[in-house]
Amino acid sequence: MGGRRIIKAAALLIALGYSSLLVYQGGVNFNFQESRSVQVADLSIEPVTKTTTLDSGQSKNITLDDIFISVKTTKHYQHTRLPILLKTWFQLAKKQTWFFTDIDNQQLQNQTNGHMVNTNCSASHQRKHLCCKMSVEYDHFLESGKKWFCHFDDDNYVNVPRLVSILKTYNHQEDWYLGRTSVYEPVKIYKKPTSKLLFSFWFATGGAGFCISRSLALKMLPVASGGRFISICEGIRLPDDVSMGFIIEHLMKKNLTRVPEFHSHLEQMKLLSPETFRDQISFSYSKSKNGWNVINVPGFDTRYDPTRFLSLHCFLFPHFKFCPR
Ligand code: UDP
Ligand code: MN
Repeated sequence: MGGRRIIKAAALLIALGYSSLLVYQGGVNFNFQESRSVQVADLSIEPVTKTTTLDSGQSKNITLDDIFISVKTTKHYQHTRLPILLKTWFQLAKKQTWFFTDIDNQQLQNQTNGHMVNTNCSASHQRKHLCCKMSVEYDHFLESGKKWFCHFDDDNYVNVPRLVSILKTYNHQEDWYLGRTSVYEPVKIYKKPTSKLLFSFWFATGGAGFCISRSLALKMLPVASGGRFISICEGIRLPDDVSMGFIIEHLMKKNLTRVPEFHSHLEQMKLLSPETFRDQISFSYSKSKNGWNVINVPGFDTRYDPTRFLSLHCFLFPHFKFCPR
């Protein structure tokens, strides 16, 4: 008991040490589409220097059951975005998919066979609250014992068989951070007041989805588990997906592997051609004052299916009951 308490206290001290070292004191120079750069007064964190020896590139026999699919959602979208997911791709990964939300809803709990997790994080789009959800997603993955952690947003369509077939080509016992970048340059961290570049790193856009192997997720445990992820986010004052990149690329010294089959609505969805839909892992949609940014897929009327996810699902899996015969 005593030993356990000491270990806990030591872990807490390490976490506090990290978060206080990461205190951000500079101004943010932020231009999302082109680059992300941040100025900091001092960032004296020592990244992990140990390099891991990787096995041979041999792929492991991964099945859907080895993947923890986590979807970030919120009470604001439980009657709009969520029903589309539940009707479509969730049906192909019911046992492997978990939704991280901010409210209790018994009806959704019944529909998902208890796969709604109330994170007790606030329902807002603020950095802190989104980081809170990501932190809970990561902790649930660790507890699940699964081989891959794949995060998606609730405006993603996940092409389940393709997610599996791509993960089959990577070894979960090696350190892998798979995703898509949506910036042209890495995030740059400067030292103030000299403006000397301290370091830079890439991150996978959360809105396209990304996957982390268990081996890597376990290495992140001392800095990211048990809510420590939130401290890191707060320390560098960057969004959850960027903070994930910071932890993995800068602290763990593992590079993001670009997997172009992940897609977010920061891209023009209509540029994806239907002949390639089967090859993609994720899709997205968004609505702005200029209209919808959606994939161009034949199917249902746009008034019934504005996001095009129902049509996409029938395009990929025409045997589904709701699909036209
Ligand atoms: N989200 C949330 N709480 C909110 C708003 C959004 O958890 O108050 C989640 C949402 O469910 C989605 C992600 O954050 O999974 C991104 O939200 P959204 O697509 O609305 O914004 P984006 O960041 O893509 O512009
Ligand atoms: Mn979005």
